[in-house]
Amino acid sequence: MIQCVRCLEFKARVVATAPDGSGAWEIYKCDHCNYGWRSTEPDNITDVVKRDPRFQMDGQDLSQLLSPCAIPPLKP
Ligand SMILES: [Zn+2]
Repeated sequence: MIQCVRCLEFKARVVATAPDGSGAWEIYKCDHCNYGWRSTEPDNITDVVKRDPRFQMDGQDLSQLLSPCAIPPLKP
């Protein structure tokens, strides 16, 4: 597993690669916090040290986060 750049858990993985096999880009997804990022994004996205700390989620209890889009009850 790969370290997630947002929550720092080693629960990220490669979910897509350049189809021509060139290795030009990869897409990652974290199975812990659901964050996704591309290898071609700038350092302030892909480098843990350069990321804006306001957007980090390391040490957060994800089960305590509110759902921004609650699902309404089903209609009968
Ligand atoms: Zn994560």
